[in-house]
Amino acid sequence: MHSAGIQNAAQVPATQTVDRNATEAIIRAEKIEKYYAQPSQNRIQVFSATDLSIVPGEIVALLGPSGSGKSTMLRMLSGLSRPSAGQVYWHGKPISEAEINVSIVFQSFALFPWLTVLENVEAPLQARGVNPEERRARSMRMLDTVGLDGFESAYPKELSGGMKQRVGFARALVVEPEVLFMDEPFSALDVLTAENLRSELLELWAKKTMPTRCVFIVTHNIEEAVLLADRIIVLGRNPGHIRTDFRVQIPQPRDRKAEAFTQLVDFIYKVLTRPDVAPAEAPTGPRVRDQRQMKYQMLPHARPGGIAGLLELLIDKNGRDDIYRLADDLAFEIDDLLPIVDAAQLLGFLKVEEGDASITELGATYANSEILRQKEIFRDAAIENVLLLRQIRRALDAKSNHTVPEEFFLDMLDEQFSDDESQRQIETAVTWGRYGEIFDFDASRRRFVLPDVLQEESAGSSE
Ligand code: ADP
Ligand code: MG
Repeated sequence: MHSAGIQNAAQVPATQTVDRNATEAIIRAEKIEKYYAQPSQNRIQVFSATDLSIVPGEIVALLGPSGSGKSTMLRMLSGLSRPSAGQVYWHGKPISEAEINVSIVFQSFALFPWLTVLENVEAPLQARGVNPEERRARSMRMLDTVGLDGFESAYPKELSGGMKQRVGFARALVVEPEVLFMDEPFSALDVLTAENLRSELLELWAKKTMPTRCVFIVTHNIEEAVLLADRIIVLGRNPGHIRTDFRVQIPQPRDRKAEAFTQLVDFIYKVLTRPDVAPAEAPTGPRVRDQRQMKYQMLPHARPGGIAGLLELLIDKNGRDDIYRLADDLAFEIDDLLPIVDAAQLLGFLKVEEGDASITELGATYANSEILRQKEIFRDAAIENVLLLRQIRRALDAKSNHTVPEEFFLDMLDEQFSDDESQRQIETAVTWGRYGEIFDFDASRRRFVLPDVLQEESAGSSE
């Protein structure tokens, strides 16, 4: 599981790389950057120079880890904030000089608490100088469309989160925006409400009930992106930049359980969790090696103690949490946490779905066991799931002196990994093998040995 797939073009389904210079763009960003001045002479680069076009007829999802600049990008494209360099064009005109027609839906709903539902929806029309009668009529129609008829005179505080976001949608749509921007609009809602609102949004979009020509949605939820989007843009961070941009060609309505769906989710997950691997190669690159021909999984360089720590934290969080949040809680860089997550996944202790890590039954048993039992569970899981460990153990069992030189395995690993990486693979294998008492390593003679052999030898020499 660890590295299989990401470089395998054939497995990436139903996508096609997007030509970001498409003509007839509604919004076109040219080399836009964002940085913030610092008291010192340094500045914080939040977004590096980026080109991006928004064309009619599509739902675009912008995905990325927190802090990758999703909201910053949305604000620049929607005219809410100016890029520090570069230019955003609205139908070919610099956006600051153009008469733009966009709305934004926020995660926090951002309703006026002192206005009723109806008044909230009317507010943007009032700001645009629409007369009171038309304002009212259009707002009532829109409230009807989003399923809020009967709630016109309620105040936001009387509404559930889902209802508040319906008001948010009504207020955004009532001005008939050409582009509807949404910044994590479903993130504050419970799962069912979110799912409900997503399908209603898709229905509105499909029926063309709204004159909106493009929806641009920021999300950190991979499944949400695959469910909704015609096109997915994945951002990386430090500074923010586009890592990949492709079309999703799975027909609507989409089935979360369909193979094309889960494969695409998996692909994006891998893009997100491997900031060091160029994903641009993934959808199209024919020259990359097919990972299925690779014999050894790449062992993530994680220590058993780290794996146990992560599992214990997950148990505290009722068994499931967002990986990026876990990293935040641990004050880990995501790049430091991911090998641990990968290792736990490789061993069958946790599963990763749409960016959430959830502990498996085996993982929970492992985390809740006492130390000796933990070692046994770890050993069984490692031998079952990790080819290199299995091979080392088998070779040791097979040989009459129960020792095998390190070089024997280095030679095999070298065919697949660089020299340095082969050495690191061995080091990690040794750490895991020792912890699980699968084998021991005699560092002075650079050879693997069965645990009791080394003990017997040292016992023998001390006598
Ligand atoms: P996302 O929406 O992907 O989580 P944001 O666009 O909110 O990311 O932020 C991207 C980065 O920009 C973050 O590292 C954030 O700390 C930084 N940032 C945002 N606003 C400011 C600001 N006013 N001054 C300095 N840094 C900022
Ligand atoms: Mg954000």
